[in-house]
Amino acid sequence: MDFFYSPEQILLRDTVRRFARERIAPAAAAIDRDDVFPREIYRGLADMGLFGVALPEEAGGVGMDTTTACIVMEEIACGAGAVGNMYALPVESVLMLHAHGNEVHKAWIPKLLDGSAVPATAVTEADAGSDVAGMRTTARLDGDHYVIHGAKAWVTFGGVCDFVLVFAKTSPEHGNHNISCYLVECDRPGVRRGANEHLMGMHGLEDCEMSFDNVRVPLANRLGPENQAFRMAMANFNVGRLLMASMALGMTRAAFEDAQRYARDRRQFGQPIGAFQAVQFMLADMATEMDAARLLIHHAARLHDAGQPIAKQAAQAKLFTTDMAMKHVSNALQIHGGAGYSRHFRVERIFRDVKLSQIYEGTNQIQRLIIARAIEKEAV
Ligand SMILES: Cc1cc2nc3c(=O)[nH]c(=O)nc-3n(C[C@H](O)[C@H](O)[C@H](O)COP(=O)(O)OP(=O)(O)OC[C@H]3O[C@@H](n4cnc5c(N)ncnc54)[C@H](O)[C@@H]3O)c2cc1C
Repeated sequence: MDFFYSPEQILLRDTVRRFARERIAPAAAAIDRDDVFPREIYRGLADMGLFGVALPEEAGGVGMDTTTACIVMEEIACGAGAVGNMYALPVESVLMLHAHGNEVHKAWIPKLLDGSAVPATAVTEADAGSDVAGMRTTARLDGDHYVIHGAKAWVTFGGVCDFVLVFAKTSPEHGNHNISCYLVECDRPGVRRGANEHLMGMHGLEDCEMSFDNVRVPLANRLGPENQAFRMAMANFNVGRLLMASMALGMTRAAFEDAQRYARDRRQFGQPIGAFQAVQFMLADMATEMDAARLLIHHAARLHDAGQPIAKQAAQAKLFTTDMAMKHVSNALQIHGGAGYSRHFRVERIFRDVKLSQIYEGTNQIQRLIIARAIEKEAV
């Protein structure tokens, strides 16, 4: 892909690749084992300016673009999927606050960029996952405040965030037409964090339920126009999906590199297992589909950077990449034989981590729905 990248993108990619090899990958097993937010590594990403990579310079960012954020994500996630996951949140949050925020919201951007503040986003509820419009959390107007009441599920960074972007309805009846978004500082009375979820993988994300018990926030905390948050969230999901796809791609690359090395070293029947065509073909398919995934991701990212709509392309990139990742990380584990099933080899962790990419930022069934609707509209 170097042919398509600018010299600045190549320099940044190589710098992040070094950081991922030297700092992230060696810490990955401990993050997985301890399941605690690795604040030092998070600050390390911030120190490199990576959270503002797609943010314009006049807003304090690096002034590059979504394509570059995808390049960076692939490198970070190649070091550790969970750290890639952590990278996505501040990148998406600064873009959201910059695009829709007033002074109250924008005051958080420098703190997000330097890693001193941690964001979270709360859309999902126990009974409203794929069906976002089914959410029950309400925001009632009371004088110069909104009163937010409800409970959110699966909040990534819920245990450590300084503020959370809460999506809530002004009345629960009207489908997705009256959802607004509110920045809620976590030190406000009534904000409660649940216990951390025991996740299969992606440890260190401090994922938990959060409840909002009549939490009062000033009118100025509403992000963007009233009742427009569904549209805002969907637009933000497009970038989120490209980042999740890049994250899955980075994890697949790590599994591929390990499988290729293992296939050279491991001998059976008097020869390296990599001499067997069955193993070679698994590696060949991995290499081919990783390249195809990267092309899909970067095609969508470039369209986005050029101001084009990408709902279909982002869904296709996320669907293809995360399904291919699940398949090929499983094959990489298979190439390790019994060893792959043990915690001595990181492919076991990657296998657990990568599964999440098919589930969140819209499940892959929902991605197919988006694609199906888009191609129906395109049909002549
Ligand atoms: C580790 C983790 C972190 C998360 N972080 C966040 C976060 O920070 N903020 C946040 O708001 N949310 C977060 N989520 C929630 C995540 O976005 C949801 O889990 C996801 O959207 C799916 O919702 P659900 O789990 O309720 O599944 P459901 O919507 O109940 O889906 C269950 C199954 O039914 C299928 N299905 C549902 N509807 C349809 C349909 N119309 N057609 C076909 N199939 C369908 C789904 O594809 C899935 O296979 C996180 C989840 C996890 C596991």
